[in-house]
Amino acid sequence: MKIRKGDQVRVLQGKDRGKEGRVAFSFPETGKVIVDGINTAKRHTKPRGADKPGGIITKDMPLDVSNVAVVCPSCSKAARVGYRFDAAGTKVRVCRKCNADLPEPKE
Ligand SMILES: [Zn+2]
Repeated sequence: MKIRKGDQVRVLQGKDRGKEGRVAFSFPETGKVIVDGINTAKRHTKPRGADKPGGIITKDMPLDVSNVAVVCPSCSKAARVGYRFDAAGTKVRVCRKCNADLPEPKE
Protein backbone atom coordinates (compact mmCIF):
# COMPACT_ATOMS: atom_id res chain seq x y z
CA MET A 1 0.00 0.00 0.00
CA LYS A 2 1.26 3.47 -0.84
CA ILE A 3 0.13 5.01 2.41
CA ARG A 4 1.88 4.05 5.60
CA LYS A 5 1.16 4.47 9.25
CA GLY A 6 2.53 7.86 10.33
CA ASP A 7 2.09 9.56 6.96
CA GLN A 8 0.61 13.05 6.83
CA VAL A 9 -2.39 12.79 4.53
CA ARG A 10 -5.12 15.01 3.12
CA VAL A 11 -8.68 13.78 2.74
CA LEU A 12 -9.96 14.07 -0.84
CA GLN A 13 -13.51 12.79 -0.48
CA GLY A 14 -16.19 12.52 2.15
CA LYS A 15 -17.38 14.73 4.96
CA ASP A 16 -13.85 15.66 6.08
CA ARG A 17 -12.67 16.57 2.58
CA GLY A 18 -9.75 19.02 2.71
CA LYS A 19 -8.69 18.16 6.24
CA GLU A 20 -5.26 16.81 7.05
CA GLY A 21 -4.08 14.38 9.66
CA ARG A 22 -1.64 11.66 10.50
CA VAL A 23 -2.36 8.03 9.72
CA ALA A 24 -2.86 6.25 13.04
CA PHE A 25 -3.54 2.77 11.66
CA SER A 26 -3.46 1.18 8.26
CA PHE A 27 -5.26 -1.96 7.12
CA PRO A 28 -3.54 -3.17 3.95
CA GLU A 29 -5.85 -6.20 3.65
CA THR A 30 -8.96 -4.01 3.35
CA GLY A 31 -7.34 -0.91 1.85
CA LYS A 32 -8.44 1.32 4.72
CA VAL A 33 -6.69 3.78 6.99
CA ILE A 34 -7.63 5.52 10.21
CA VAL A 35 -6.51 9.14 10.37
CA ASP A 36 -6.27 11.01 13.68
CA GLY A 37 -9.34 13.18 14.22
CA ILE A 38 -10.80 12.47 10.77
CA ASN A 39 -14.12 10.83 9.92
CA THR A 40 -15.24 10.73 13.53
CA ALA A 41 -18.47 9.12 14.53
CA LYS A 42 -20.23 9.24 17.85
CA ARG A 43 -20.81 5.83 19.32
CA HIS A 44 -23.36 5.28 22.02
CA THR A 45 -22.05 2.41 24.05
CA LYS A 46 -23.48 0.49 26.95
CA PRO A 47 -21.39 -0.06 30.04
CA ARG A 48 -19.52 -3.34 29.91
CA GLY A 49 -17.98 -3.91 33.29
CA ALA A 50 -16.01 -1.64 35.56
CA ASP A 51 -13.23 -0.73 33.10
CA LYS A 52 -15.57 0.02 30.18
CA PRO A 53 -18.11 2.65 31.19
CA GLY A 54 -20.89 3.45 28.72
CA GLY A 55 -21.66 6.78 27.16
CA ILE A 56 -21.07 8.65 23.94
CA ILE A 57 -17.60 8.04 22.56
CA THR A 58 -16.05 9.82 19.61
CA LYS A 59 -14.31 7.29 17.44
CA ASP A 60 -12.20 7.70 14.29
CA MET A 61 -13.69 5.57 11.52
CA PRO A 62 -11.65 4.00 8.71
CA LEU A 63 -11.36 5.76 5.36
CA ASP A 64 -10.68 4.14 2.02
CA VAL A 65 -7.07 4.76 0.97
CA SER A 66 -8.27 5.95 -2.42
CA ASN A 67 -9.91 8.91 -0.68
CA VAL A 68 -6.72 10.22 0.91
CA ALA A 69 -3.42 11.45 -0.54
CA VAL A 70 -0.01 11.83 1.04
CA VAL A 71 0.99 15.43 1.69
CA CYS A 72 4.48 15.90 0.29
CA PRO A 73 6.82 17.59 2.79
CA SER A 74 8.81 19.22 -0.03
CA CYS A 75 6.05 20.88 -2.07
CA SER A 76 3.26 20.57 0.58
CA LYS A 77 0.77 19.39 -2.04
CA ALA A 78 -1.46 16.37 -1.78
CA ALA A 79 0.43 14.19 -4.21
CA ARG A 80 0.18 10.80 -5.81
CA VAL A 81 2.96 8.46 -4.84
CA GLY A 82 5.43 6.96 -7.28
CA TYR A 83 8.42 4.71 -6.77
CA ARG A 84 12.05 4.71 -7.75
CA PHE A 85 14.98 2.52 -6.88
CA ASP A 86 18.01 4.06 -5.20
CA ALA A 87 21.65 3.09 -5.82
CA ALA A 88 21.35 0.22 -3.35
CA GLY A 89 18.27 -1.14 -5.15
CA THR A 90 15.89 -0.11 -2.39
CA LYS A 91 12.40 0.99 -3.34
CA VAL A 92 11.89 4.64 -2.41
CA ARG A 93 8.55 6.45 -2.47
CA VAL A 94 8.57 9.70 -4.42
CA CYS A 95 6.19 12.63 -4.88
CA ARG A 96 4.79 12.61 -8.43
CA LYS A 97 4.45 16.39 -8.37
CA CYS A 98 8.01 17.47 -7.49
CA ASN A 99 9.86 14.11 -7.61
CA ALA A 100 11.24 14.56 -4.09
CA ASP A 101 11.70 11.44 -2.00
CA LEU A 102 8.98 10.91 0.58
CA PRO A 103 10.37 10.15 4.02
CA GLU A 104 9.46 6.84 5.62
CA PRO A 105 7.27 7.73 8.58
CA LYS A 106 8.50 6.87 12.05
CA GLU A 107 6.13 4.63 13.93
ZN1 LIG B 1 6.26 17.11 -3.76
